[in-house]
Amino acid sequence: MKILVINCGSSSLKYQLLDMEGEKLLAKGLCERIGIDGHLTHKPQNGRPLFNEDVPMPTHTEAIAAVLDKLTSPEYGVVESMREIGAVGHRVVHGGEKFAASVRINDDVMAAIAECIPLAPLHNPANITGIEACKAVMGDVPQVAVFDTAFHQTMPGKAFMYPIPYAYYTDLKVRRYGFHGTSHRYVSGRAAEMLGKPIEELKLISCHMGNGSSICAIDGGRSVDTSMGFTPIAGLPMGTRCGDIDVSILEYLSANTGKDIKELTNILNKMSGVLGVSGVSSDFRDLDTAAAQGNDRARLALDMFHYAVAKTVGGYVAAMNGVDGIIFTAGIGENSAATRAEICKYLTYLGIEICPECNKKRGEDTFISTEGSRVKVMVIPTNEELVIARDTRDIVAG
Ligand code: ADP
Repeated sequence: MKILVINCGSSSLKYQLLDMEGEKLLAKGLCERIGIDGHLTHKPQNGRPLFNEDVPMPTHTEAIAAVLDKLTSPEYGVVESMREIGAVGHRVVHGGEKFAASVRINDDVMAAIAECIPLAPLHNPANITGIEACKAVMGDVPQVAVFDTAFHQTMPGKAFMYPIPYAYYTDLKVRRYGFHGTSHRYVSGRAAEMLGKPIEELKLISCHMGNGSSICAIDGGRSVDTSMGFTPIAGLPMGTRCGDIDVSILEYLSANTGKDIKELTNILNKMSGVLGVSGVSSDFRDLDTAAAQGNDRARLALDMFHYAVAKTVGGYVAAMNGVDGIIFTAGIGENSAATRAEICKYLTYLGIEICPECNKKRGEDTFISTEGSRVKVMVIPTNEELVIARDTRDIVAG
């Protein structure tokens, strides 16, 4: 079966077409500036040329139509007709407490995704738009929703509750949800394969470190705690998000700057994290360069990030009363040997030993700990699209 995977943002749409026989990528691409003017980058994987041009996209419906046009075109295509696409899998950010697993989309599911809009006001409306656009262009082709939050629905109350009046949970659904669930699920499954043990017998800690970063404690294949919370601002300091801070800072800043909560929350989301501390950049490559040139604030921002990751990992070792493997993934986790080495310096008490040569490898699943290391450390490039495609295939076939 061939499956189209869609990750829809408010003005963008990323896609991949996979042939599930052999889990082969056939094409991938990106629509940008939807609703503004429109640009399509389409990369067939069969040797046909790259398409990289402006295409009018007043709405997501024209974007999906343009994608299907390229996927089936004689010049850039990878399939002969749209009928070859057996199903569509959508990344949906927030499933609230309703969805602990992926699900075939019908009217009830659409209503439930819409109910979660207050919890993810930027993301869920875009995801709904993408689903509706596919329906408009592709008709009755089965569609499946795969939620970022679903994997974390196994967290126990002691991990997902906030110590605030209980009615805020029951009436307003304020609790830890966690994000990046599809990535944490994928890399923990791969880690179990690499370790050669059933995931049910393993305690794993997955560190997804990209523009947004989160850590997840996975006990026996189930998420038992994670660092993002009610929203993705929580936990670690990130590129531009502050991570965990004392909530009283908001009132104090409001009183002293005249900015309201909305403005300040925007600053905490978009101008904080390593960008806010360093004043240099949200990109860790720029911070590495600046720190190497003697920029103290870039160095401080990096140190704060490593320290926060190490403290969270330590907390999750306690939460699970042990750990067998630690995984690094996403942009920083997959590419920055220096970041991994700095974090692991805090973890020698676990019997972790890093092999500097292995830590230099890139772009492949690899152990970066030594043979003798008591806890294994792995780099595993994440593949959320593959998880979405697999779930879609299983749900449509089953
Ligand atoms: P997203 O969270 O948007 O999916 P990614 O997982 O692709 O992001 O991560 C992007 C980030 O990865 C960049 O902002 C950059 O900070 C970081 N990154 C990528 N390559 C490197 C590298 N070689 N060294 C350090 N950081 C890197």
